[in-house]
Formats: sequence, structure tokens, C-alpha cells
Amino acid sequence: MTTEHRNASSWIADRTLAFDSSGIRKVFALAATMKNPINLSIGQPDYDVPAEIRRSACEAIESGKNMYSPTQGIAPLIEKLKAEVASKYPSEDRDLFISSGTSGGLVLAMLSLVNPGDEVIVFDPYFVMYVPLIQLVGGVPVLIDTYPDFRIDLNKVRDAITPRTKMVLFNSPSNPTGVTATLEEIRGIAELCLEKGIALLSDEIYSPFHFGSPMVSPAKFNPQTIVIDGFSKSYAMTGWRLGYVHGPREIIQTMIKLQQYTFVCAPTPLQHASLAAMDYDMTAFYKNYESKRDRIVEGLRGYYEFVEPGGAFYIFPKVPSGASGKGACTGSEFVAKAIANELLVIPGNIFSKRDTHFRVSFAASDETLDRGIEVLRKLARG
Ligand code: PMP
Repeated sequence: MTTEHRNASSWIADRTLAFDSSGIRKVFALAATMKNPINLSIGQPDYDVPAEIRRSACEAIESGKNMYSPTQGIAPLIEKLKAEVASKYPSEDRDLFISSGTSGGLVLAMLSLVNPGDEVIVFDPYFVMYVPLIQLVGGVPVLIDTYPDFRIDLNKVRDAITPRTKMVLFNSPSNPTGVTATLEEIRGIAELCLEKGIALLSDEIYSPFHFGSPMVSPAKFNPQTIVIDGFSKSYAMTGWRLGYVHGPREIIQTMIKLQQYTFVCAPTPLQHASLAAMDYDMTAFYKNYESKRDRIVEGLRGYYEFVEPGGAFYIFPKVPSGASGKGACTGSEFVAKAIANELLVIPGNIFSKRDTHFRVSFAASDETLDRGIEVLRKLARG
């Protein structure tokens, strides 16, 4: 009997090979070489979870709430979130469960809805996870380019729809652009999906960071919309891994069934603590981010081309043509220059087929923002 010696790398499943993580790794590797970085690359708030909510988490642990929760989450949290959702988007058929982060919700949505070969429409630029997740389940990402204004052109969406289209993935306020969809765009995409019988998955993780007016979900115009939301950004608890999903009952029940065999449940003590979080008024934090948005917009105006963000905590400027000192350079080349000046931002090609822009996170102290603006102004002059 012969024993074949197989290289461990040959065991890796094909589904993992469609994408890699080298782009973002390169940025992190560069960041590690920086001594005192002006870090405007972070995708999470710069404030901490308020003390009262942290205490609730400690109390939940101390009082023994450390076991599995029901797969769908603890009842009082589900009820509270359901009541909030029902007051905005009344529907007989809307169910809700607690996921392991918004990312967990996205994974379960893909597994539940996308068959191999199904096409999923994604607006480019997009949140990094979308394309690999679609590919992981055998789906085909169909990218719609939204440059230069990052608006949704419904005609382009209509043209992209084929008999294989299963889903449109929508994200407003957007990561990486900070752009918020207009009411007409939201209504348009919601009604188009309804008309065509296509699933609409709306990632609303940045919904509290919607400056000026409250965010309206496409669920208002299309009751079949599947909404992915979570506590990570709104309460600065990205490490707590708490998300929630609401949508048509059968789809939510399917996602819960899959959660049972994958994530099992979201962290139990933190679900209890997030009940306390829901009673905590975070408005001042969001207002503060609105003024940070104003600060970065004023700081970069006249130096860069950008669309003024209406939400989230990102701005996505275009690399100026003079930035290389000898004509246009790519987003990646520009970021290398920024890093040489101790400024960490993210190249646009991490989020896009194009490499022409870069993402700045304004979730930073005003001092850090001002230092970053100074470097960016210098780089813009070439
Ligand atoms: N969607 C978007 C658009 C995001 O920016 C992020 C986090 N960067 C997520 C989902 C994932 O959030 P969570 O930490 O809740 O998994």
C-alpha cells in the first residue's frame, strides 16, 4: 500500500480561490512600518462604548448570562427591535433575529438566497466584503459603476438585470463614499426590485450616521426588503459582534436555521447589554460626527474633487492629477505617498474596480483630522 504525500495547500477548497486579501494586507503591512501614523483609515468610531452600557455588559457576565442564547437571540431584545422596526416599516410579514455582527447577517443572507450562478448586483465602489461573499456562495457579482457622483442610475440597474439576477445589494450611507442615497433613488430601487421580483438586501449599518435628516429604508417602499443592521458602528461596539436582520418571515426563518448550524447565536451577555444600549441616547455622538464631516469637507475643499458625504464617517476623494508631480497617479500610488508622510488612508481599489480615489475616515479626533488635512493639502499641491 502506498501513502500519497499531499501538500496541505492542495486541501484548500476551490471556493476560497476566487478572491484574495492581498490588497488590504498590503495597506496593513505598510501601516506597521509607520512610527507615529496619522490614522484616517479606521472603519469604526473613535469614541468608546458609553460607561453605562459597558457596566451592563459586566453585570450580565457577573450575573451568569453566559450560556447560549436562543438561536434567534434573546426575546426582550428581539421584541424591542421589532417594535422599533414596526413603528417605521409596518408589515404583517416582517420578522427579525439577532446575528453575529452585521457581517454574520450578510453571510447568512448570501447562504440563504444565492444559488451558484445567481447574479447579484453591486454598486461600485462597494464595502470590501460584498464581492468575496457573493463569490464564496458561487454567485456572480455584477458591478454597476457609480463614478463620479456615486448616484444610483436606475437605467443602469434595469440594463444589468437578467433572468439570472437574484439580488440587488444596496448600502446607504455608503462605505467607502459616505454618500447617502436620495429618497428618489431609494424609492426607485425599492420599486424596481419589487417589479422585477428580485431580492433587495439593504445594508443599513450606518443608518444613525445620516446627517441632516433620518435615514429612510427601501423597506418603506418595498416590504420584501431584507435589512441588515447592527450595533457595531452606532454604539462603537465593533468587537461585540452584534447585528440584526429583518425581512420577510420565511427568509428570516431560513437565516435562523442556518445560524443554528454556523454561528449558533450572537454573544449572550452582550445581547443583554445592548438592551441597555437601546435606552441610551447617542444623538450627541452622531452630531459630533456631522461636525467632523464639515471639518474634513472644509479642509479638502478646493484641493480635491469629492462628493460631500451625507452620512457614515468616510469621504472618498479623487486623486488629483498633480499629486505625482508628473501627471495623474493611481489611488495606490497616492496612498504610498501619503504613508511616506505618516498619513494612513485606504486606496480606492480595495473597494472598487477603479484605482482612482482614496478613502479617508473622519472617525478621529479633531487634532488628528487637522494633521491629516494638512498632509492632504500638501500632497494635493504635488
Ligand atoms: N457593512 C458595512 C457597509 C460596513 O462598513 C461594515 C463594517 N466595516 C459591516 C457591514 C460589518 O459590520 P459588523 O462589524 O457589524 O460585522
